[in-house]
Amino acid sequence: MTSPARTLAGQCLCGAVRYTVADEFTYALNCHCADCRRATGSAFKPFAGIERHKLALTQGSDQILIHGEENAGDIHCGKCGSFLYSVVREGMFVHVTLGTLVDDPSIRPSAHIFVGSKAPWFTICDDLPQHQGHVGGD
Ligand SMILES: [Zn+2]
Ligand SMILES: [Zn+2]
Repeated sequence: MTSPARTLAGQCLCGAVRYTVADEFTYALNCHCADCRRATGSAFKPFAGIERHKLALTQGSDQILIHGEENAGDIHCGKCGSFLYSVVREGMFVHVTLGTLVDDPSIRPSAHIFVGSKAPWFTICDDLPQHQGHVGGD
């Protein structure tokens, strides 16, 4: 018997946009690429990947701002700008920004990626594997 998946809540800074996502992420990573740094304003972006249909916008779907395209874009709140998730892999997957989750997911980031583009002012202080580019790309 497997119990039904837990559902996690997430939301933007101002609360206009809310989503739920199954606690069934298949991977979680910290991305240090320049795009992720700029999109978040942070040293890196912790995110987790899951099939797109396992995420649902529960509030504010008419308030979102899409940077990029419908099937390859970053989804932000159109009011406060919070970066909620990206649609990736031909629209089949989403990369949820872990910082917008309200609930604690079961998964933890397992590696740092694009460390080759890391901000020079940031030092990685944990023992997770570091990849210069994608996982398995170096
Ligand atoms: Zn907002
Ligand atoms: Zn990145």
